[in-house]
Amino acid sequence: MSSFSLPELPYSYDALEPYIDKMTMEIHHTKHHNGYLTKLNAAVDGTELEGKTLEELMAEISSHSMAVRNNGGGHYNHSLFWSIMKKNGSKPDGELSKGINSTFGSFDKFKEEFSNAAATRFGSGWAWLIVSDGKLAITSTPNQDNPLMDLVEKKGTPILGIDVWEHAYYLKYQNKRPDYISNWFNVINWEEVANRFALAK
Ligand code: MN
Repeated sequence: MSSFSLPELPYSYDALEPYIDKMTMEIHHTKHHNGYLTKLNAAVDGTELEGKTLEELMAEISSHSMAVRNNGGGHYNHSLFWSIMKKNGSKPDGELSKGINSTFGSFDKFKEEFSNAAATRFGSGWAWLIVSDGKLAITSTPNQDNPLMDLVEKKGTPILGIDVWEHAYYLKYQNKRPDYISNWFNVINWEEVANRFALAK
């Protein structure tokens, strides 16, 4: 039996139109994410790693193979990514909104800082909003690394993340990564981010 499985999207492939197009979503989920998943299972099934959770693997990733790092990260990151988007995105409120305002000054300042982290990540990778020692922070990681990994510079629990690999936006946006980032803010599921914030604090 395979250790990990591909999560269904909580919405249809065209739900995030016009900001993220249907074809990008379908290829991203069924080809890219499924590819990481298949390779992760191939690296874990039948080994001493079988039965460990994804979070356990991330926390000790420096002692595992590049296959587990790249594909385990890929599976974790994309599973989070699908969950924090939705049709007709929202705005943060409650404790999360207070946290954003006290940490970054305002939602607009947060958006600016997060977008900058995403736009300036060289090559392929992710930008993150994390909870680290009870506080919110912005960071970014290369490739399929993430802030749960023991080897990253700035560790924490990711509660929001944007995929800035070209496969996430190239069909619609080509080289215009900043336009993709700006439009992505229209499809954030802030209720889910708030759920993750409450658990991570
Ligand atoms: Mn991706």
